[in-house]
Amino acid sequence: MIRFSNYVCLFLALIYCPCVLSKDRPLDIIQEERAAASVLIPLKTDKWTKQATAWLIEYIKKSSGVELPLFKDDDIPSGNVISVGHTNLVSREKISLDEFRWDDCRLVVRGNILFLVGRDDHGTKTHDWVGARGTCQAVVKFLEQSINARWFLPGPHGDFFDKKINIQVANDLDIISKTAFAYSDGRSVYDENTLDEPGKSLSALANNYRKSVKAAPGGHSYYHAVNTKKYFNDHPEYFALIDGKRTGEGNHLCSSLSNVKELLIDYMQMRFDQGLDWVSLGQEDGYLRCQCDECESKDNYRFRDWHREHRGRWEFYQNTVLPKTPPERLLLLHKQVIDSTLKVNPDQTVMLMCYAPTAWPSHEVKHFGRKRGG
Ligand SMILES: [Zn+2]
Repeated sequence: MIRFSNYVCLFLALIYCPCVLSKDRPLDIIQEERAAASVLIPLKTDKWTKQATAWLIEYIKKSSGVELPLFKDDDIPSGNVISVGHTNLVSREKISLDEFRWDDCRLVVRGNILFLVGRDDHGTKTHDWVGARGTCQAVVKFLEQSINARWFLPGPHGDFFDKKINIQVANDLDIISKTAFAYSDGRSVYDENTLDEPGKSLSALANNYRKSVKAAPGGHSYYHAVNTKKYFNDHPEYFALIDGKRTGEGNHLCSSLSNVKELLIDYMQMRFDQGLDWVSLGQEDGYLRCQCDECESKDNYRFRDWHREHRGRWEFYQNTVLPKTPPERLLLLHKQVIDSTLKVNPDQTVMLMCYAPTAWPSHEVKHFGRKRGG
């Protein structure tokens, strides 16, 4: 005999069974070589969200042979959706990116929507590839997981991926990917030395060639701030006095002249005004000291040709001689430039180049920049 409570259970089971099935069902992207989802992007799409979307569509098509349809925020499609970047759906579904930094990103499914979104804060007045590109990172992670994609080198022979007739993601997917490094560049295959595409390629992003802060690395800022070609004719006094002459050759500067300091400060400000958050500061390559009385009075650094003076023993010079006699004139100048720069730009960062003669700490300057804990 079937009791009333059994009918209730059967009824509830019939109601909930399809829901249970659909709850466990993955979100289809490609189903039997047909598009089962559409891609959605913001109405106003920035350069790198556009690029991330192009990569997504390109590699899904390479893997499955199917090109996913593309929609914008003002025309939300029915069915399954891959939302790329900061669409209105991100706000509507309250997809949190709290405490995200660098290129952090999130891959999360809510209902029939897969969100691929990250921290995006890129572009300066001069360079469109610096800064955070978290949405690109989200697309990279998704392709790595869904079609087993790997990128080694830029170009058609540098990538690997699986051929798929079905692509789907778990309907409870929620991955937050944190980037370990804020900044990592200088690998030739990904930077401008080889391809004139510093960090722009998919393979660069996939291999942590990272530029998630708006930084100007390098460090030999004297060439740009007080350039010989620009200033020497009118102001030879800006340049180092060497053997009784100022020639401008090698872009060696007089470290004591206040006009030189002001030009360095102006240069740092100009770089911050371009939209950079970190700007480097450092002397020219192959530093030679100015021999004017004012410069020579600031330290006991009297080296000129360390290679010959120390019989080619770089290690001996660096580790034994230099620590006792750092070029204080340079370090004091850099301290003044940093203090002035950060007074106007308290939230920005100056990267001080510690290189060759400035590799060791000053005996005069106790700290550079903001003092930690005080
Ligand atoms: Zn001088």
